[in-house]
Amino acid sequence: MTLSFVEHPSPNFDDRSGRRPVDMVVLHYTGMPTATAALQRMSDPEAKVSAHYMIDEDGTVYRLVPEEKRAWHAGVAFWRGVRDVNNRSIGIELVNPGHEFGYREFPVVQIDALIALLKDMATRHGVMPGNYLAHSDIAPMRKEDPGELFPWRRLHAAGFGRWWTDDFKVSPHAPTLQPGERSGAVLELQVALDRIGYGIEGSGVYDPPTEAVVRAFQRHWRQAQVDGIADAETGSLIRHIAEQVLMRRISSERATS
Ligand SMILES: [Zn+2]
Repeated sequence: MTLSFVEHPSPNFDDRSGRRPVDMVVLHYTGMPTATAALQRMSDPEAKVSAHYMIDEDGTVYRLVPEEKRAWHAGVAFWRGVRDVNNRSIGIELVNPGHEFGYREFPVVQIDALIALLKDMATRHGVMPGNYLAHSDIAPMRKEDPGELFPWRRLHAAGFGRWWTDDFKVSPHAPTLQPGERSGAVLELQVALDRIGYGIEGSGVYDPPTEAVVRAFQRHWRQAQVDGIADAETGSLIRHIAEQVLMRRISSERATS
């Protein structure tokens, strides 16, 4: 598949600062009734929002902001210690009306185009598997895009992002944790979510921010049921993904020591 872009420059960007390279990709849905409306909004200087790319449902890729510039797509966000996510990331908008205007499946050709774009980008930026993110991952209290219909599993199969491995099993001892609960098990859950990269306090209290983060995790990794409750499957999956992060950290430390 050869890459071609429709140039649609947006004025909404500024310079990246500091010396840290681009090492995150943040995926969004446009959440507007039409692609045209989304393009207009991301090109309106008053709106002060943009993304590097927008991919239409027919696979057309629009380029709005050059990759070397800082597009304005993340807003108030946090991932793995980074607050200025715009500074470190490429933002990609997928055309979809979203939960407000009729959320629907992402067509195969749209995801084909996304994967081709990610392959092309991988020649320029080193993004580790744990840094292919949903907007909801980096802003769980505010955002739900690209949502629970986004095919993270297919993205992983194409070489991008993290997914659970075939040997994953629900732990028979995993408790169900609920909003309002206060316990050591809640603290353990929060520690695992923090290890994955989420912005979360280790308080031991299943407070609204914890519920929002569990919901964001489910939208990414347990899409069949997004309810903010850490049931046995959700809790086991959180530990499973956190373990993958830990194993990667250990192996990269070994490689550099
Ligand atoms: Zn978004």
